[in-house]
Amino acid sequence: MTKTLIIDPGHGGKDGGARGFGVDEKDWNLKMSLYQYIRLKALGVDVSLTRREDNTLEPVQRVARIKNQYDLCLSNHWNAFNGEARGVEGIYSVHGKPDLATDLVDRVVAKTGLPKRRVFKREIKKGVDYYYMHRLTGKTETVILEYGFIDHPTDFNHYADNTQFQLAAEAVIEGLCLATGHVYRQPEAGVSVLKSIALKKDSGKKRLVSHHAGKLRFYNKPSWSDKDVFGHVTFGQGFPTVVKKLKVGRGEQYQVKNSKGDVYYITASPAYVNVL
Ligand SMILES: [Zn+2]
Repeated sequence: MTKTLIIDPGHGGKDGGARGFGVDEKDWNLKMSLYQYIRLKALGVDVSLTRREDNTLEPVQRVARIKNQYDLCLSNHWNAFNGEARGVEGIYSVHGKPDLATDLVDRVVAKTGLPKRRVFKREIKKGVDYYYMHRLTGKTETVILEYGFIDHPTDFNHYADNTQFQLAAEAVIEGLCLATGHVYRQPEAGVSVLKSIALKKDSGKKRLVSHHAGKLRFYNKPSWSDKDVFGHVTFGQGFPTVVKKLKVGRGEQYQVKNSKGDVYYITASPAYVNVL
């Protein structure tokens, strides 16, 4: 039996979260979550996101997108403290088991070589979770994962490297495949994927990303015909601007623009592409 999953990029918008060396935690949370999202989609996991861009989510809005609607929720975070604390942490609900949090932390520790700090639960009083992500998400089993300390130089430098960032992301993707009942496969694309999902600060503008494992055709006019194929995008690639969706034959395509403003057409099927 497979399980459903929602990934929560912690903080966002006016809530930057922790901060270290000029980076806001909210941005790394989103980068990590978008990467995991498109990879897990490609691996067949039924996965959603609480946010897809740099927008503010009040706690009530955030939990309304999670509570009782999924089997599992992963909330992605980085810590900050005094510049000396470091390492990986997992937090689980007082009503749950430590298993998933422990597994994800151990996978990240094994792949990154960062220290394992702790896997813990925290309560306000007996039987009441301290963190609202646990207290207010109902039957959805939520794990908060803290990948490291953004204000510690070693932890920061580790994740500032896209190759290392991707390895940590893949460690968690493998754990989430196991937890949701899916088979994990290594990514075909390298760190270029992380670059192509790089954050856009101008929120509200929709972009398109392919999560198809192979080459995906795009066309120079609304068409499915071989003669109108202009080029291909591979996994993780896409277009920075989605203009509109239109009916083409029996299917639908997006009219998109590349960074130069050239207009193309590509499938709108959610089996192949995501609009973020
Ligand atoms: Zn946080």
